[in-house]
Amino acid sequence: MMLAAVKTRQKGEIVVKSVEQPQLSADEVLIRVDYCGVCGSDLHAYNHAPGYEFVQGPRILGHELSGVVVEGGGGAGSLLHKRVTVESIQYCGECPTCRSGRTHICERLQVIGLHFDGGMARYVKCRSRFVREVPATLSNLAASLAEPMSIAVHAVEAIGKVRAGERILVQGAGIIGFFTGIVCRSLGAEVIVAGLPKDRETRLVHAATFGMVPHVEGESDGIRDKADVVFECSGSPQGVQASLETLKKGGRAVFVALYEASVELFLTRAVRNEWQLLTSYGCRPADYTRAFGILQQYEPQLRQMVSIYPLAQAGQAFADALQQKVLKPVLDARN
Ligand SMILES: [Zn+2]
Ligand SMILES: [Zn+2]
Repeated sequence: MMLAAVKTRQKGEIVVKSVEQPQLSADEVLIRVDYCGVCGSDLHAYNHAPGYEFVQGPRILGHELSGVVVEGGGGAGSLLHKRVTVESIQYCGECPTCRSGRTHICERLQVIGLHFDGGMARYVKCRSRFVREVPATLSNLAASLAEPMSIAVHAVEAIGKVRAGERILVQGAGIIGFFTGIVCRSLGAEVIVAGLPKDRETRLVHAATFGMVPHVEGESDGIRDKADVVFECSGSPQGVQASLETLKKGGRAVFVALYEASVELFLTRAVRNEWQLLTSYGCRPADYTRAFGILQQYEPQLRQMVSIYPLAQAGQAFADALQQKVLKPVLDARN
């Protein structure tokens, strides 16, 4: 038996309890979890948001995990005792989108911790081909941030194609917003991160650490000129409107968030400005390698953004995240 944080069928309920340890198939390894981040999509699933109907309870959530491989069958021997993280999007490798190299939008994709049990537990199993060894110089805590950092890498590099010297507006001062800004900074772009008035003394104080300019929505400071690229990371219809207000003619808007409600958009305005409206979903295997490098570079600063909760207090972590009391809750599964 093992301790796990289980999302029940009840909306907004996480129960920490003792459950059966996962049983391995031949191509799977067993990972003893160190850390598992609470992600926006975990909150959507917990909230029974539209688009998350497929996450039925009881389910152990968690796809942002780090740990050590303690058992593995078949060809997984080389991973045994290694410090690892996992690729959240588990793809078939055979469908047309997979064959075109876009495994992150596989026709049959499944996400660990949403479609099947994930890492908010003492142990998790994973198919060995989705297990990634963590570089020796990266801590296990930082490794648990590899998945959200890979999402940002994909949005900025593969979709946004950000270049040095470009002016970037990141809408939304949540963790994906900051990670997106960090990747843009690492490429030599100028970054403004926009948040709500309530974020001024809390979330937005992190902007300076990464050389970003904070901006409080509705105020005139920070935004002097329009942006070449906006990254919409707020997930709110108001955020979409605000981000487009600051976009140059001919600019690129990249939608990275997932939305709990429909968003209205007057397309004529977008057409007349010839805005490129782009969406970014998930990440590809190669994005993890790049994410490891960025995490190493910024590890001390990133540590300031994380709030650690023991696994037993998972319910509290979800409640605090929903009320935006913390920027990035991470569960410590070791105790
Ligand atoms: Zn995530
Ligand atoms: Zn596929």
